[in-house]
Amino acid sequence: MASVTRTHRPSARVHAKALRILAAGRAEVIDRQPHRDAVRIEGDHGTYVVVREGPQVTCPCPAIRPCSHALAALIATGRRRP
Ligand SMILES: [Zn+2]
Repeated sequence: MASVTRTHRPSARVHAKALRILAAGRAEVIDRQPHRDAVRIEGDHGTYVVVREGPQVTCPCPAIRPCSHALAALIATGRRRP
């Protein structure tokens, strides 16, 4: 389970991957509310539903560090700038 906060600074590699996911249309916003979002991300190795609750964002992928899925979800919901 990878988690990230909205203010975390991702590596350039993770950032580039997130932008690639978005450009390919592989991020689908399922739910967008003031305190909770859910976004389905089609990653390279599987499909993950990223959930944001308050400031915390979690992705069920096996990555230990903040992942491109979580970042792509934040950008897709307009919580972060690309
Ligand atoms: Zn992930």
